[in-house]
Amino acid sequence: MGLNCAIDGPSGAGKSTIAKTLAQKLGFVYVDTGALYRSIGYYAVSNGADTSSAAEILPLLSEISVELKYVDGSQRVILNGEDVSDLIRTPEISMAASNVSAIPDVREFLLNLQRDIADKNDIIMDGRDIGTVILPSAEVKVFMTASAEERARRRYDELKAKGQDVVYDDILRDINQRDYNDSHRETAPLRKADDAVELDTTSMTIDEVVEKIELLITDAQKKESVPFKTIPAFRRWFYAVLRFIVWIGFSVVFNLKYEGTENLPDHGSVILAGNHRTWFDPILIAIRVKYISSYMAKAELFDHFPLNVIIRAVHGFPTRRNSADVSALTRAENMIRNGYNLTIFPEGTRSKDGKIGRAKSGVAFIASKCAVPVYPVGISFKSRLHFRSKITVRFGKPIMPDELKINSMSKTDFRAAGELIMSNIAALVDSDV
Ligand code: C5P
Repeated sequence: MGLNCAIDGPSGAGKSTIAKTLAQKLGFVYVDTGALYRSIGYYAVSNGADTSSAAEILPLLSEISVELKYVDGSQRVILNGEDVSDLIRTPEISMAASNVSAIPDVREFLLNLQRDIADKNDIIMDGRDIGTVILPSAEVKVFMTASAEERARRRYDELKAKGQDVVYDDILRDINQRDYNDSHRETAPLRKADDAVELDTTSMTIDEVVEKIELLITDAQKKESVPFKTIPAFRRWFYAVLRFIVWIGFSVVFNLKYEGTENLPDHGSVILAGNHRTWFDPILIAIRVKYISSYMAKAELFDHFPLNVIIRAVHGFPTRRNSADVSALTRAENMIRNGYNLTIFPEGTRSKDGKIGRAKSGVAFIASKCAVPVYPVGISFKSRLHFRSKITVRFGKPIMPDELKINSMSKTDFRAAGELIMSNIAALVDSDV
């Protein structure tokens, strides 16, 4: 997965010129999403449809296939096999694009195409809803503006230079109309993302804008490659004492057996992934791991006092099950970057009979996002637990990030990586449980 830079803003703010220059300079792929809406507007106009009527546009979508291709580094838009890149740059098609872009099904139609490209490359993507809807977790977000008059002047110069016969006042009127359409539509209106940097380019030169965004990108690149932090020593000492006390307590109640501890790392920021048998599995694992771990716990547990306070005190954080909980994944990533391990039970729920289930995609996602190893853990015991039951906890050799073979951040890759992790865990669990 590459670094994503989202540039949003109104028509004519200079997004495409800046994005193109930057992409070339940094070796990124430039994605002009306006061209996608234009190609749909173009198809609608060519078929005599009213571009502001959803009822007339919807049936056309099933006839359309749009693709982006890159020829010598420049983007070409292929509509039903035909290169329409130059045909879509007229004032008529600009307005048609603005009209069709207000139709929710059109936006939905283009959503995955945009996300797929961003998944696979370092990209600079310009549009209206990139930072807010398409790539909400883009590492760099810019909201570029300029006065309507300045934008009209720039577009006028650009079209004149291409030999088109245009009138400044018409362009200004169109720009005002498109601004209104883009910011008043119900679905994905033009809006600055809360975490976007706003750049008013009215009196800035192209070079100045490029330089400013380049700085944001290089800063983000540095951040991506910062070494993970380590947890302060006094916390680790305190934790070691706590761990020792819990170990004694658990060793009195159960007949605990640990194997494979030589496989454990002598640093933090790794993932420990185990099979899930009891509510105290996290404790069974923590007893033998030196570095402090964070935990994902089901959100329902945080509804009850004092359980919520206890779980938070041991670095547990809530995750909603049965959905991709983005904030939990971000939290997990932050904990790992701050030097904590992450103990996770990829199946999501406890297994009553000891059988190993399928992994949810979270574990593979985090491992590949943070590029950290996954240490498999197998927990085995027979039937119901009682006083002095024998419990075996086995630590396996780490699975390195490249062994997970996640190349495209796709569901298929996550599933395969999840299966690999679960099979490593299964190999550490006694077969007669
Ligand atoms: O950027 P460009 O002027 O080529 O975009 C054409 C039209 O497509 C815009 O006026 C806007 O209405 C729409 N658009 C959009 N969302 C995007 C990109 C463009 O709604 N991400």
